[in-house]
Amino acid sequence: MKQVNVKTMRAVPQNGGDMYDCIVIGAGIAGAVAARKLAEEKGKRVLVMERRPHIGGNCYDEKDAHGILIHNYGPHIFHTGLEEVFAYLSRFTDWYLFGHEVVAKVGDQLIPVPFNLNTLHMVYGKEKADRLEQKLIETYGEGSRVPIMKLRENEDADIREIAQYVYENVFLYYTMKQWGQKPEEISPEVTGRVPVLISYDNRYFQDKYQGVPANGFTEMFEKMLSHPGITVECGTDCLSRMRFADNEIYFDGEKFDGDVIYTGALDELFACRYGRLPYRSLDFRFEHYDGASYQGHSVVNYTVSEDFTRITEFKFLTGQRDTDGTTIVKEYPFAYTGAEGEIPYYAILNEENQALYEKYRALTAGMEHFHLLGRLAEYRYYNIDAMVKRAMELADRL
Ligand code: FAD
Ligand code: UDP
Repeated sequence: MKQVNVKTMRAVPQNGGDMYDCIVIGAGIAGAVAARKLAEEKGKRVLVMERRPHIGGNCYDEKDAHGILIHNYGPHIFHTGLEEVFAYLSRFTDWYLFGHEVVAKVGDQLIPVPFNLNTLHMVYGKEKADRLEQKLIETYGEGSRVPIMKLRENEDADIREIAQYVYENVFLYYTMKQWGQKPEEISPEVTGRVPVLISYDNRYFQDKYQGVPANGFTEMFEKMLSHPGITVECGTDCLSRMRFADNEIYFDGEKFDGDVIYTGALDELFACRYGRLPYRSLDFRFEHYDGASYQGHSVVNYTVSEDFTRITEFKFLTGQRDTDGTTIVKEYPFAYTGAEGEIPYYAILNEENQALYEKYRALTAGMEHFHLLGRLAEYRYYNIDAMVKRAMELADRL
């Protein structure tokens, strides 16, 4: 792991509580934004505790042994239409902006995903594609975004045919790999993230701003966390220094009355006493190749074959041009068990799991200065920009 250039002072164990006004648990995007705002705008002395050996959470990136900048926890593309979020992060980084495009490998073809009118014309002959295009536009309107599960409800024979094609060739097998369930068995919010586009837009996202920090995410985090009011301790699990009991928070054995922002998994705070919150995890397998390019695209989704879901080729994501060779990563999903070294990446959104989450959340209801923030702590499927926005709002309120 790269040595990060932020202060990593250890707090004095006996009176740690007196040294800080706030404690932020987790140095991912949620924790980093909240910490910076509290230190800079509210004059708070903030301790950030992070159990991984580095800052950045799942956005962390670093150069691999071949000098290629990789995203250690899978491809991260920042995308947003939120001006305030873009402006805030732009204080800490310049950007390498691009329109992110993804293709899916279906048979011998690489077809644009989300499925759009370009894809339609690749799949069907001209005459048929023209007719189907007309029908899609008449039915849904040009420029509209139709979730696959909605498209499947349409009873028109032509639209059903398209829906069936997209369902079988884009969603079914990929979703089975990613979630271990069929598209109709998972939350429509999830498949709805990649709607059918009634347009010729090949981009994966339609947001105004999309790209990656020009010098990587980690440098952006370093700048954000470099503030005299912020102390960062990496390699520290908060549970080694904090205790949550009887609606009180203890830090280094003393009662802590300041604000605590928690961005970790909620069940872990309470020793999983009601059972584990279910998550999907991923095994990232990196491979390095000589030569300028492996696949010629940043991301290729494997929607009808292979055991992995997608291959990311980092050079095409980061725009890096100063190295020979190329590094890729394949993502193999599996059910998170909580075993040592596993990371919970995706909350599995359904009513049963939500009810379990609420049981855990009830345990925090009496802790006035305790705040749940983040993709894990809120058991939600947040993108980076939504996380930044929530962190900004929380820090503003405190
Ligand atoms: P995290 O980044 O998970 O940070 C939480 C931190 O808390 C972690 O570093 C963890 O180690 C730490 N922690 C947990 N428990 C403890 C503890 N007990 N003590 C101390 N520290 C603790 N979003 C996009 O916008 N664009 C993308 O392209 C994109 N791609 C993604 C690809 C993958 C494979 C995944 C999994 C997610 C992707 N996301 C993407 C989502 C993005 O990663 C999240 O929105 C964002 O990282 C959430 O930030 P966070 O701070 O809530 O969580
Ligand atoms: N999905 C799919 N095929 C694809 C892309 C996405 O089936 O080619 C489904 C799959 O269920 C996935 C969900 O849509 O989990 C959301 O995709 P997204 O790319 O947003 O997932 P993430 O990048 O967050 O893993």
